Amino acid sequence: MAFQQNDRPQRQTFDVSGLSLKCAECNAAIDRLPFEPTLKEDGTYGKIYCFECNRQRRRDSGPRNYRGGGGGGSYR
Ligand SMILES: [Zn+2]
Repeated sequence: MAFQQNDRPQRQTFDVSGLSLKCAECNAAIDRLPFEPTLKEDGTYGKIYCFECNRQRRRDSGPRNYRGGGGGGSYR
């Protein structure tokens, strides 16, 4: 019986050290990204954040609390 080794796929990172990208938040140099940056029409890669800032931002915008939508006002 062949035991298939299931290597945990490591999170792929792209080496972007040649692009001299900077974090839009803390200005830290970024040499690795979890995604491949795409050059936009204006010649920039858009806003790119370093790992730390990315994490923070994700946390900040966490689960969105949609406000309103039902409740109140339907008292008759
Ligand atoms: Zn940063």
